[in-house]
Parts: sequence; C-alpha cells; structure tokens
Amino acid sequence: LFIVIEGIDGTGKSTQAKRLAESLREQGETVLLDREPSDGPFGKILRESMTAGRLSPDEELELFHKDRKQHVEDVIQPALARGEHVILDRYYFSTMAYQGARGFDVAELRATNEAFAPAPDLLFILDLPVDKALDRIGARGDTANEFEQRDALQFCRDVFLSVKDEPYAEVIDSTPSLDAIHEQMKTIALQKIKA
Ligand code: C5P
Repeated sequence: LFIVIEGIDGTGKSTQAKRLAESLREQGETVLLDREPSDGPFGKILRESMTAGRLSPDEELELFHKDRKQHVEDVIQPALARGEHVILDRYYFSTMAYQGARGFDVAELRATNEAFAPAPDLLFILDLPVDKALDRIGARGDTANEFEQRDALQFCRDVFLSVKDEPYAEVIDSTPSLDAIHEQMKTIALQKIKA
C-alpha cells in the first residue's frame, strides 16, 4: 500500500507517520517510512535552502520535481514492487499547496506531477484550523510574519482539502490527542491493507 500523509505545519504529520509505521510493523507488515523533500541529492539541497535562504520560486519548483522523479524511480516504486508498504510524509499535494502559495497554478502543478508520480492508495489529510496550527508551531507574536504565514497556511489548508473527495483521501481532524488520531489512522490503514 502506498500511504501518504499531508497537512499544514503543526498537524503532526511526522509523528503520525512514525507511529503508523511502528504499528504496521507490529502487525508483521514491512514498511518503508520516508519523506519529501527526500534524502536524495535534490532533496538535500531543498532542505538546506529552507533554513539557509530560500531559492527563487522557479528554482525551487524545478528541484521539487527533480527530487520527486528521482525518489519515485529509485525508492518508492522499487519498494512497492518488493511488496512493501510505503508511508510518505509529504508528497506532490504539498507541492500543489506550498508552491501554489508561491504563485504557481495549482491545477497545473497537479497535472505535471500526476504525469510521473503515482497517486497514493491512501492519503491522510491531517486537518487543523490555521489559528491552532500557528499556536502549535509557536508562530504567534511577530505580527507581520504572522499575517503572511496565516494567509499562506490558509491557502495550503484549502488546497489539501480540495482533494478530499478523491477515493483514496481520508480527512483526519487533527485537534484531538496524538493517541486518538493514531488509533483512527491505524484502523483505516489496516482496513485498507486487508481489503
Ligand atoms: O515537512 P516539513 O514540515 O519539515 O516542511 C517544512 C517546510 O517546508 C514547510 O513549512 C514548508 O514551508 C516547506 N515546504 C515547501 N514546499 C513543499 C514542502 C515543504 O515550501 N513542497
């Protein structure tokens, strides 16, 4: 099963990805836990640029696409072909959201990505109101920055929710406890694996 976890910052994606991988392994499943930007060469440049100084929107988008192509070909597809489950923390829905927020056309980003990147079997959209997300990431206080962030995050949240009617999508309310969210995700994933 190809499982993707998406959501804005502060929704707990990485924690839930890790816990879901652990639970599936306890059930005897083989799981590859991974993330994007990936740990490949292009992904490394992207991660560094997030802290060291942001690239131009065009340069950044090109790297996201190079990273994803390489990641899909070298890591994701081989793992799925070996019969493993892949759990991915962020994927092309994040490109639609964040690069969409930087000005690119969301529908075009989606089409470009779906031309080379397989859709997931199961997409968890961890959903949280932007105010709660800002509280969780500790982004309150600096007013100018907060307004900028709020708009961008609202845009991203809306993009994630725009795919909620896809047959593979499951929207998860991320306001309850980590344990409650985990139980819900585990139940859904196991159902899908056994189906
Ligand atoms: O996955 P993680 O939460 O570490 O992502 C950190 C940041 O990377 C996000 O807050 C977002 O600003 C940025 N990002 C991005 N475009 C993507 C994925 C992530 O700008 N496609």
